[in-house]
Amino acid sequence: MTERTNLLGLDLHGLEAFFVELDEKPFRARQLLQWIHKYRIIDFAEMSNLSKSLREKLQAVAEIKLPEVMHEHISQDGTRKWIIKLSCGNAIETVFIPESGRGTLCVSSQVGCALTCTFCSTAQQGFNRNLDAAEIIAQLWIANEALGKDPKGNRVVTNVVMMGMGEPLANYSNVVTAMNLMRDDFGYGISWRRLTLSTSGIVPMIDKLREDCHVSLAISLHAANDELRDQIVPINQKYPIAELLAACKRYVVGQQRRHITVEYVMLDGINDSIQDAKDLVRLLKGLPNKINLIPFNPFPGTHYKCSSRNQIVRFQQYLIDQGLVATVRKTRGDDIVAACGQLAGEVQDKSRRSERMRAQEVVFHR
Ligand code: SAH
Repeated sequence: MTERTNLLGLDLHGLEAFFVELDEKPFRARQLLQWIHKYRIIDFAEMSNLSKSLREKLQAVAEIKLPEVMHEHISQDGTRKWIIKLSCGNAIETVFIPESGRGTLCVSSQVGCALTCTFCSTAQQGFNRNLDAAEIIAQLWIANEALGKDPKGNRVVTNVVMMGMGEPLANYSNVVTAMNLMRDDFGYGISWRRLTLSTSGIVPMIDKLREDCHVSLAISLHAANDELRDQIVPINQKYPIAELLAACKRYVVGQQRRHITVEYVMLDGINDSIQDAKDLVRLLKGLPNKINLIPFNPFPGTHYKCSSRNQIVRFQQYLIDQGLVATVRKTRGDDIVAACGQLAGEVQDKSRRSERMRAQEVVFHR
């Protein structure tokens, strides 16, 4: 028997093609999107505006399959983390962060990560595989199922950031399909202002994204010169800062009120001097931006320390004095290990990088 198609991971375009293939009208795609994503009905038998014969046909060739939630953790500050079980002993993490007036879901795009940013705990786990579009959108489905709507009838999850485990632009087509579903009015209806993709800087894919899917962009800059960025965000050796910022400028061209969020992790004694702040101001000239300073979140085995509170404030103030918008990201959910860069899941590491990193740690500690 051929495998049944999982409709969870098809966007409008994909579902229309699926129905045409079945000799059905493409408008069925919209009905299916609403059932799956708006009403979270996954049993074809309950889809009352489809004929009985179509429901039976769907039953035979398709399914709506969600991965299983292994654990849900709830932090004292209301942050929630779901650990979602995937095939072959892998698991990913999804985090919900409630704030006044909005609720943000931080979504993973890969099992582990193939990049080697030295301050990120996901990187230490190594890499297993890309998530498919169904596994990406399932995270939003699961969060909506758990959190539902507020008393006014609005969804509790109002914003999505592609900032969980993995590099989203290294899993391009699945991420774009899932983001299409997030944006689609028949899916989740999230506006591009409330949907942000964060990348470490895969330059050609930034250009492609500009063409394919209208979302807000964040870049993980973390250093104001190539020498340092080559070390802490090694993808910089391939796509150096000047190329990355040029791609960002192309990204915002012609888009009213669109800025790039620049993420900058505060690492004590590494990238947090006033000279670094000066270099940052110079670099970002001409790029509409907002800087988000992220206090470093430690994880077992790391040799980095977070900059002192004072130093973070000094750094921020310097940027503000120079006319930039700079905020400090609040650390949320650290009691359930759900903060930025702490998401580790369960990664069956095919790259064997975690082994190599452990070996390096031994040398480092000697
Ligand atoms: N790969 C993408 C998506 C991950 S987003 C990217 O690099 O942008 C997660 C954000 O948290 C990134 O800005 C990442 O650099 C940052 N981060 C990673 N490890 C961290 C840590 N230990 N403490 C604070 N922020 C961290």
